[in-house]
Amino acid sequence: MTTSPPSDGSVLPPGELRMLIDGRLVEATGGGTFENVNPATEQVLGPVADATAADMDRAVAAARRAFDATAWSTDRALRQRCLRQLHEAIVGEQELLRSELVAEVGCPVMTTYLAQLDAPLAEALLWPAEQIDRFGWERPLPDNHAFGVPSWQRVVKEPVGVVGAIIPWNYPVEILLGKLGQALATGNTLVVKPAPDTPWNATRIGRLIGEQTDIPPGVVNVVTSSDHLLGEQLVTDPRVDLISFTGSTATGRRIMAAAAPTLKRLFLELGGKSADIILEDAPLESKLAYLGFSCLHAGQGCAMLTRTLVHRSRYDEAVELATAAMATVTYGDPTDPGTIQGPLISARQRDRVLGYVESGLREGARLVTGGGRPAHLDRGYYVEPTLFADVDNAMTIAREEIFGPVVVLIPFEDEDDAVRIANDSEYGLSGGVTSASEERALAVARRIRAGTVSVNGGVYYSAGSPFGGYKASGLGRQNGVEGFEQYLETKTIAGGR
Ligand code: NAD
Repeated sequence: MTTSPPSDGSVLPPGELRMLIDGRLVEATGGGTFENVNPATEQVLGPVADATAADMDRAVAAARRAFDATAWSTDRALRQRCLRQLHEAIVGEQELLRSELVAEVGCPVMTTYLAQLDAPLAEALLWPAEQIDRFGWERPLPDNHAFGVPSWQRVVKEPVGVVGAIIPWNYPVEILLGKLGQALATGNTLVVKPAPDTPWNATRIGRLIGEQTDIPPGVVNVVTSSDHLLGEQLVTDPRVDLISFTGSTATGRRIMAAAAPTLKRLFLELGGKSADIILEDAPLESKLAYLGFSCLHAGQGCAMLTRTLVHRSRYDEAVELATAAMATVTYGDPTDPGTIQGPLISARQRDRVLGYVESGLREGARLVTGGGRPAHLDRGYYVEPTLFADVDNAMTIAREEIFGPVVVLIPFEDEDDAVRIANDSEYGLSGGVTSASEERALAVARRIRAGTVSVNGGVYYSAGSPFGGYKASGLGRQNGVEGFEQYLETKTIAGGR
């Protein structure tokens, strides 16, 4: 089902061109810029600063100085006040940010009322601000008599230092706020490197930090660049203590290797290929009615349930219901409130998704619906909502993260087989189980090797819920107490009596 062709977005005011470095809004050294493009229309929205290596160097130096030479790392009350100010400042421009996100990310406006903007904005800065009061920054240990020396002991939590925060394009504000909230609440300073495809949300938030908060100069720096490798400068710089990266597993591997010489702390949120297990007693019709939501934001979500596993005895019925569900996916103009699926972020991503469709056909999967570029949309990086049936878990479309509006249906023989297929993946980000019996679904959920699992449609999303991956889906957790601690070092102090 298609919605109207994309509007040109010309009513959008230009985004912030300047970067925040050491408390000042600055252009790139030499004045270089690159273009921000609307993926729904392929039109240029406007320019943004194209930072040089020297700009990145200044940003790292500023973050280091702000950590080492100001009270930021120790003044919890200041941090709490600044996080609340930043929340208020962003809320003040929430509607502008919403339109800007739809234009630069190509995300359906519907998603901005959910995880793309409103849901993280409600909590991502305020939850860590409140956690400052709840957290046990110090805890006493029992007295010690090791080696005959009577001593008291205390465990102290301290910020890690300078954080290099590297952001992808698919949910840029959600991921940026998640990193800012936790890293700032714990007393770190940051250099943020947004994805080149979606820079304006980050430069806007940088401007708000500079103009409307008491966050001291250098505590947050935002460096935009058309060159991915400027991010690598953060990874190799010895003045940076921790890399907080969200992006693809391939880049995560490269970052891990590049971080080895300086033994950086790493927090990696990577890709996924999550399985949704539908047991034979599940209410198949109501469950598959929502299958079209696998195409939300053109499938550009790391935790999407992209492998649908159905018991062999109900497989034919499932293919029929899934086909009907895919026909209800509204795709087209992301500014239309009824649109579920917008464009892919770029021509490169679109072509990558189409390449996966070809590989599915080549390896013997049955293309049930979609698989091409929509004939009626002559602008924008669109792919039709696509469903493959008769998929074997060994096929490329079942193993690799497609990051597009492509769902694969895989049959299984029994519960053990379903768990085996779900876990037969290099990834382990998320999963789902549906059954008429919650107890049975829960037992299966416990066997899935993934960081989050939804049972009978449950939602794990909140600032308090740890989110992250097993296996090649990453290291560490965003959100929750585990996410907070990610940005802290642990020191044990002992005193002689
Ligand atoms: P990407 O890995 O290409 O880029 C992510 C960021 O890393 C960008 O800012 C990019 O400029 C930067 N970058 C690229 N090469 C780099 C290098 N060598 N050193 C340092 N920085 C580098 O990912 P993407 O295509 O922007 O995003 C899509 C991917 O992100 C998908 O695989 C998706 O699953 C994943 N993702 C994961 C999560 C999660 O929480 N697990 C959330 C969102 C997206």
